[in-house]
Order: sequence, then C-alpha cells, then structure tokens
Amino acid sequence: MPTDFENTSIQYALREGRMRHISEVEHGLACGCVCVECQQPLIARKGAIRQHHFAHTAETNCNPSPENLTHRYAKNLIATRLRAIEPAFEVRATAAEVEAWARQPASTFEAQKAEVESLAFMPDFKPDVLLQRGTFKLAVEVYFRHRVPPEKAARIAGRYAHAVEVDLSDLPANASPNEISQALDSPLRWKWLNNRSELFGKLQQQVDRCSKPYIPKLKELASRKTPANYSFQLPRQKVQEGQGKVKWAEGWRRQSSEDRKTYAEMAPAEKLAIHCSYLGLTPVELPLNLMQGVRGQSLLGRVHGLYWQTWMFARWGVGVKTFGALDVERAARQTYPELASVRATLQTANGFSETAELFYEFMLQLAAQGLLEQHKGPRAWLHTFSPVAKSRAEVAALLKTLPPAIS
Ligand SMILES: [Zn+2]
Repeated sequence: MPTDFENTSIQYALREGRMRHISEVEHGLACGCVCVECQQPLIARKGAIRQHHFAHTAETNCNPSPENLTHRYAKNLIATRLRAIEPAFEVRATAAEVEAWARQPASTFEAQKAEVESLAFMPDFKPDVLLQRGTFKLAVEVYFRHRVPPEKAARIAGRYAHAVEVDLSDLPANASPNEISQALDSPLRWKWLNNRSELFGKLQQQVDRCSKPYIPKLKELASRKTPANYSFQLPRQKVQEGQGKVKWAEGWRRQSSEDRKTYAEMAPAEKLAIHCSYLGLTPVELPLNLMQGVRGQSLLGRVHGLYWQTWMFARWGVGVKTFGALDVERAARQTYPELASVRATLQTANGFSETAELFYEFMLQLAAQGLLEQHKGPRAWLHTFSPVAKSRAEVAALLKTLPPAIS
C-alpha cells in the first residue's frame, strides 16, 4: 500500500535540463539535480528506511506537486523515446447507394525529432509533445490528471492535422519510469484527437467512382449471355500444360489424403487438372465461360482467370449448396494465400471487398449463361446462387453443351 509519503515525496528532478527519476541518479548531492519548480539544488535521499526521494538542500516553501512532475516526466519520456502510437482508425464515406469504410490498424510512429512543451507558458497553443518525422508532425497530449480541455483540443486540431492523446490517468501520482513506459506501449491508451488523414479523400474518391457505375453495371453483367473474352490471346499454353497433368490428377484423386500433395504445394497446371477432374472433363474441353472476361480475368492481378474461375466453379458449381459472394471470397483467401495480403481497403455497403465484387460479377455472368441459378435478394448484391448441376456427371454434361474455348 502506498503511504501518504510515497504519494507526496519528490521523485523527479532536473539534471542538465533532463527529467530524472530518483532511481536514475546517485545518492546525496552527487545527484547534481535541481528542483523543477524553484531551480534550487536537491539532495537525493536513498537510505535504507524511507522511500527514496529528493529534498531541497535549503529551507524552502517549495512543494512541487508529484502529479506535475510525473506528467512532465511522461512528456519527456515520449520525446526521448521518439515514439508514439497511432491508434486504429476508421473512416466512412457514402455516395448514392454505396457506403464504404476503410480501416487502418494501430501502428507505432517512429519520430526523428521531438519537442516538449517547456513551460506552462501559453499551454493552450502548444501540444505537450510534438513528434516529427520528415514533414509529418504528430501532436501528443498526455492525459494524466487533467483531460485535454475541449478548447485546447480544438486549437490543437486547428493547428495540427494529426493529434493523439495518451491516457495515463489511472497511474499513481508518483508512477515510476517503468510504469509510465509500459503504459505508453499499450495501443488501447491512445486515441485520436484529430486525424485529417488523406484516407478520407481517397475513400470518398473511390466511393464516388464506384457508386455511379456499380448499379448499372450489375444490370449489364446480369444480361451477359455469352462470355466476354477481353484478352487478345486465349491461355492456350496454360491449358496445354494442364492437359499434360490429366493422368497425374487422376492418380492424385486415387491417393489417400495423407499421402498426396496438398493443394498449396501444387503447380498451377496441376491445380487446373484437378479442377477439371472434379468437373468431369479435361482442360482442352473447357468452355470460354470458365476463363471469361471479368475485369480482365485476373484475380486482382494475382491469379490468372483460368485458375481461379475453374477453382470457383469446381468448388461451388456442383452440388446443392447455396452460396454468396462473401462465402466464395472467404474460401478464396484460404486457397490463395497470395490474396491474404490484399486486404482491400474499400468495402461497399454490402460488405463486399474488391475480391468479393469480382467473384460476384463472375457469378452473375455464370447465372446469365445458365451455369448457376440465381436467387433474388432484397438488393441486387444480396443475391445468392446455387449450382444447376447436382453431380459430377451432370456438370460434365452441362459444360460439354458449350464449345471448347481452345481446340
Ligand atoms: Zn523547489
């Protein structure tokens, strides 16, 4: 239990202009410290009985408040560490029928230089600490006993595009450097006072851009009866390579799941042969529908259309299970680890990311082409889908009614 003495004794002093804790200095006058308030010499009392503390060497009325000293030490510590936490951040923007949000996780801000508000002189105009890296400035307010008053917060916000507050209000009046340091490392203690992030502008632009074309585009896609082929060249070589793996794929299917290569270990041609095997045909028999133009075919520039479209259809296009774009997206992120790094920032009101949207477009087209069944939802983007073919034999028969893309 802290005694009254522990709460009121002087634990922090100045040496050579820097704040020091009693634990960081030598015993006695050798500490070389002066009082923060009156600038008079202090002696460090580090005996065996009482809690270590500083005392004025001469008779004085000076009685610095531990809260002020600790607050000041905390500010200095932030400046010395050259480090703050930028809290997690979320912005929203809306336009027409589309709502979007972007999230930025909490991150550590490493500064190159720091400035500490030196005196209580015009405290309303200067942040407690100003950290800077290049031209980027981050204003930091330390909430110890007094929350940043709204007027000051408003002034700081007017002056600094990025301002944060760190909440140390639950620490004891004479908190130790260690306690303060640990508290500063906790992201939950930090919040934004102001964040004029460029994320807002970017997000609004994105929303404006997609809200206009989105609805008409869905209508257009829903009527795409024949698959569009945007690429100049069909993926002939990829199909041939897949064809070369047909026998291998049949063997793979006969192996027990413990012995065989995992999906992740397979080469693209092997994956293609497996997808086709599930669909009851071989790569050269694939119709254009499973390599069709969906925003240029590639899945966010990571996976060629031939691979992801056959994967999607082999996994979801046969059987009885109803599914939505989000189900497909979730599975795709597991199947294609390269997509994991693409945390699309933009999410539309439907909860779609860019990846889900791409799948949705593809599914709409397949439905228009008679390869999936579409179930109307309350909104265009809440439609779900189910397979037309219930078995491997049915899907093979269905696909073979369509001309092969490559012959
Ligand atoms: Zn003093």
